[in-house]
Amino acid sequence: MGKRDRNAVRTAYVTLRDLPGTRVMFWVVDECPYCGERHFHPAGNLRTADPSEKLGEQPAACDPTRTYELLLPPRPKKKTGKPERRKERRLGKLDDLDDEKW
Ligand SMILES: [Zn+2]
Repeated sequence: MGKRDRNAVRTAYVTLRDLPGTRVMFWVVDECPYCGERHFHPAGNLRTADPSEKLGEQPAACDPTRTYELLLPPRPKKKTGKPERRKERRLGKLDDLDDEKW
């Protein structure tokens, strides 16, 4: 294909912050896909705005000719316990081996 995805929209993960002492919210891009810096996008007023409306494709703060897609990062699921269980199983195997040697 050889198609350069120059025009492809890059993804920027954001977190919602509010400005202390105000009701203004910001979407914070922790690491810009273009420059690696942190950018702030006003998300509106705490009471009246729906910040999720400001998600999606937005002009990059560092380069208005380019856009990135503001996305909420996938939440780390702490309560699934899957990795824990896997670790336990591995430990259990080690214990079994130790028992055999014993
Ligand atoms: Zn940038």
